[in-house]
Amino acid sequence: MTNQLYHECYTYVCQARSLLKELKELGFTTLAPADAAQNRLIDTVTPAVVPVSAGIGHLSDLRYEVELCRACPLHETRKTVVFGRGNPAANLVFVGEAPGYEEDQQGEPFVGEAGRLLDRILFAMELSADDVYICNLIKCRPPANRDPHVDEVTACEPYLKRQLALLKPTVIVALGRFAAQALLGVQAPVSRLRGQWYSYEGVALMPTFHPAYLLRSPQEKKLVWGDMRKVKQRLGVVSVTPSD
Ligand code: URA
Repeated sequence: MTNQLYHECYTYVCQARSLLKELKELGFTTLAPADAAQNRLIDTVTPAVVPVSAGIGHLSDLRYEVELCRACPLHETRKTVVFGRGNPAANLVFVGEAPGYEEDQQGEPFVGEAGRLLDRILFAMELSADDVYICNLIKCRPPANRDPHVDEVTACEPYLKRQLALLKPTVIVALGRFAAQALLGVQAPVSRLRGQWYSYEGVALMPTFHPAYLLRSPQEKKLVWGDMRKVKQRLGVVSVTPSD
């Protein structure tokens, strides 16, 4: 075995180990056989070819508009506008808070450490990044990753509202306090809001903890997994959780 191959194998083993650790923290005790876990999404996610009715043309117009936005001071410090990524025809949309450093650099939401945790949560749900759409409440990075200010939320929220109207998901997951409070128009803490169904403009909405919070409080991952099971049930996807 060449040195390079050895290092690649070693990297894969390390990644597999950390994924298994993550699944254990989410509450998994066994894994379903690979064939049982394949393509659960077939009934729930529209194929990659997006029908015109999904309003994709309008979404690109909106993206263009947001990229030119100067409605709040964040346009002065941003490197890129982080509009959204994933499948615009997906039934499931995740809404986070605001881009961080990595997202601002790359122009894509959830590509940093919190994004890698979100990817692992999606993996546990038997979904991939292409089965969902991911965006944020705020489209530009607040300097030094500080909390978004009220005027920034107020300036950006109408874009999110239009984005969700164009995406027309079946289920929205609000990740963390800012997304949950803005979409629901309430001030309650996310610890009180999470785990229950709400309606946002007629669309089922599930608030849950933000992945960045889970990185600091891994003991809460089980609660998020419980919330994601409810989401899967709502979408009509058969759950493979071992502890049912
Ligand atoms: N946190 C968020 O809320 N959004 C991102 O895109 C990245 C981190």
